[in-house]
Amino acid sequence: GSLLGLGTIIWISRQFRSSTFKYDPSNEKSNKSGEQSKAVSTGPERNFVKLMKQQNRQVIFFYGSQTGTAEDYASRLAKECSQKYGVSAMTADIELYDMTYLDAVPSDNLVVFVMATYGEGEPTDNSVEFWELLTGEEPEFSESTTLENLRYIVFGLGNKTYEHYNAVARVLDTRLSELGGKRIAERGEGDDDASLEEDFLAWQEDMWPAFCDALGVDESNAQSGPRQAMFGVQELDAVDRASVFLGELGEWTNPEQLLQQTVVHDAKHPYQAPISLSHDLFQQSTDRHCLHLEIDLSKSNLTYHTGDHIAIWPTNNEVEVERFASVLGLSEKLDTPIMVEALDSAASKKHPFPVPTTYRALFRHYLDICAPASRQTLMSLVEYAPTEASKEALRQLATDKDAYRAKVGEAMRNLAEVLELCQGHDDEGTTNVAPGFFSTVPFDLIVESVSRLQPRYYSISSSSLTSSKSVSVTAVTLSYQPTKGEERTVYGVNTNYLWRIHAPEDDAVPLYDLNGPRNTLKNKKVPVHIRRSQFKLPRNTKSPIIMVGPGTGVAPFRGFVHERVHQKQHGKEVGPTVLFYGCRHSEQDFLYKEEWPQLFEILGEGSEMITAFSRETDKKVYVQHRLKEHGERMWDLLQKNASLYICGDAKNMARDVQQTFIEFAQTYGGKTEQEAHDYIKNLRNSGRYQEDVW
Ligand code: FAD
Repeated sequence: GSLLGLGTIIWISRQFRSSTFKYDPSNEKSNKSGEQSKAVSTGPERNFVKLMKQQNRQVIFFYGSQTGTAEDYASRLAKECSQKYGVSAMTADIELYDMTYLDAVPSDNLVVFVMATYGEGEPTDNSVEFWELLTGEEPEFSESTTLENLRYIVFGLGNKTYEHYNAVARVLDTRLSELGGKRIAERGEGDDDASLEEDFLAWQEDMWPAFCDALGVDESNAQSGPRQAMFGVQELDAVDRASVFLGELGEWTNPEQLLQQTVVHDAKHPYQAPISLSHDLFQQSTDRHCLHLEIDLSKSNLTYHTGDHIAIWPTNNEVEVERFASVLGLSEKLDTPIMVEALDSAASKKHPFPVPTTYRALFRHYLDICAPASRQTLMSLVEYAPTEASKEALRQLATDKDAYRAKVGEAMRNLAEVLELCQGHDDEGTTNVAPGFFSTVPFDLIVESVSRLQPRYYSISSSSLTSSKSVSVTAVTLSYQPTKGEERTVYGVNTNYLWRIHAPEDDAVPLYDLNGPRNTLKNKKVPVHIRRSQFKLPRNTKSPIIMVGPGTGVAPFRGFVHERVHQKQHGKEVGPTVLFYGCRHSEQDFLYKEEWPQLFEILGEGSEMITAFSRETDKKVYVQHRLKEHGERMWDLLQKNASLYICGDAKNMARDVQQTFIEFAQTYGGKTEQEAHDYIKNLRNSGRYQEDVW
C-alpha cells in the first residue's frame, strides 16, 4: 500500500484500552487476544516508559537501523545528551520495546527517533513492527488515542537517489504530530548519497538549543571532569581459552554453540555455508572480476525464495588488521583476551560484540576498521594525540570540512590511515610511521568510535524453484584509487575477501584469514543469512514481465528467467519475458553470456534479451537507449498488465529508466506529464513497478 496514505493510518491501542481496565503504565502489557501473553514472560522489559522511570532516564533515543549507522548516531546523541547537558538518557533498539506505550510518556520526558529509510521508503528490519503500528491497517485501533503528552524529535537517514527520500522519518513525524505529539526541534534529514555525516552535524546545531529550551537545561549542567567512558575494556590474565570468541558471529553464549548442528540459523545466527562452486564471469579479466558463487545451504535450515537477498559477513584483510594494531601499539597483544562491557547499566547492548574476545578478533571480524573515519571520531581523538603536531593535524581534519573531505571523506581513509597521516607531522618533522605512535588513545574510545562490521547483501541470482538449497551470488569485485596521482588502492572489504576465497594464490589483493575463527570457515565457507525481499515475480505466470538489469543488476533476473523456464518446462503458460541487459563489451564482461540463448529459446516467441554494450561503438549505448528503441512494444506490454523490474545502480540507471517509462506514457499513452508521473506512481503502488537497487 501507499506509504503516504495517511488517511487510513491508525493507531493500534493496547488491548486493555478497549476493555474496562484502568490504564496503568506500570502494568505489564496485556496482549492482543489470541496470542500467548508476553506479559507473563520473564523476558526483558518491553515497557520503555516503565524502564525509563525505574532507571531515572529523561530522554530515550530509539533507533531504526539497517546497517548500524542510525544506531551509531543514536549513541552519539545520547552520549552528548548526558555529557554535555547533564540529562540522563538511554538508547534503545526500537524492536525491543512496545511502542504502544508512546502515549504514556510523561510530559517532562523526551523521545528521540533516529530512523533510517530502507529501499523504497521501507522501514528497517528492526522497525517493521513499529511501522505496522504507525501505518498498518489492523482492526484493533482507537480513534481516540492521543499523544498530547509526547515530546519528540526525529532524525532520518535516507538516500536521495531513491524515490521515497527519508519516507520513514517524514511519515513518522507527520503521524506523531497528527496524534497530538509535540515536535520540539526541526526534523533532520541526512542524505547517504552525499553528505550524511555533515547533514547530521549541521542538524545538531539547531537541534541542541531547541532541546535545551524544551528541557530547561544548558551546558552548565555538563558533567565536568575527564571524558566519561561508555565501555570498560579489561585485558584478562586467566581465562578459559575455549570461552573466548575469536570472531564467531551472532548471538551465542559461547563459541562452541556455533558448531552445533541443531541451531536455527537467521540474521542473528549466521550459517557457515560452504561455497560449492565459484568462477569469474568476466571473459577477459584483468583486475576487475565478477564472481559467480554457489552457496550450499543443504545442511542448514535456511530457505529462500527467488528474488530474496543473501547477506554475507565479511572479514577484514590482514593488512588493515595489522595497520590498526600497529598504530595503536597493540601488535604484540593481538591475541590477548579482553572483556568489553558497556558501563551504563541501561545501555541497549551490554556487549557490542561477543565477549570475551581478542584484539585480533575485533579488528578482523567485529569492527568496521576499513570505513572512512568520521569527523566526530577524529574530534574525539584530538586530545589523545601524543604530540602537539599530531594534535594539530588531527584537529585540522576534524574541524576543517574541506580538509576532511579531501584527505578522509573522498580519499576513503580509514581511522588507522588517518592516524598514520597525522603522525607523519610529528614534532621533529619526520614522516616515519612509528608503531604504537597513537598508543595514547584509550581503547574504549576506539570501541565507542568504530562501528560494527556489517554484512553485505546480494540479490540472489538463482531460482528457488530449480535450486532450492543452493544460492547463487553474482558479485563484482571492488577496488579503486580514490586520490588522483596517488598509488593508494582501496579494496572493497567483502568482494576482495570473496575473491581471495576463490583465488587464494592471487597476491594482487590483500591477504585474508580464510580459515576463520577455530577453522570454522576452512574449506571455503562464509557466514551467511537470508533476507526476505519484496522483489517478486507476478503470481500469474501468464503476466508479461519487463526486466531492466545492467551489470550485476542482472543477478535477480537470472533467477527470474530460470524460474520462468522451469515453469514453462513443467507445462505452465508463461507470458512474454523481456530482459534489457547492458555491459561494457560483449566479449569482456557479458554476464552469463553462454546461458541466455538457450533459456530464451525455451521461453519462445515474445520473450527476448535485448543488450546494450556501452563500449563497442563511438556513442555509448545504455539500456535506456535500447528501451526507447522498443518503446512502443514495451508500452503495449504494460497495457497487457506487464510488471516492470529494475535492478542495479540506484544513482543514475534507475532514475533514467523511470524517466524513460514516464516518456512512454506520454508518447504512446497520450498522457500529460503529470498524468504520466501518476501512472508510474500507481504502477509502483500496485506492485507492478519494482526496484532492487543499491
Ligand atoms: P565496501 O568495502 O563496502 O566498499 C563499498 C563502498 O566503497 C561504497 O559504499 C562506496 O562508498 C565506496 N566506493 C565504491 N567505489 C568507490 C570509488 N570509485 N571511489 C570512492 N569510493 C568508492 N553487489 C553485487 O556485486 N551484486 C549484487 O547482486 C548485489 N546486490 C545487492 C543487493 C542489495 C539489496 C544491496 C543493498 C547491495 C547489493 N550489492 C550487490 C552491493 C554489495 O552489497 C556490496 O556493497 C558490494 O559488493 C561492495 O562490497 P565491499 O564490501 O566489497 O565494498
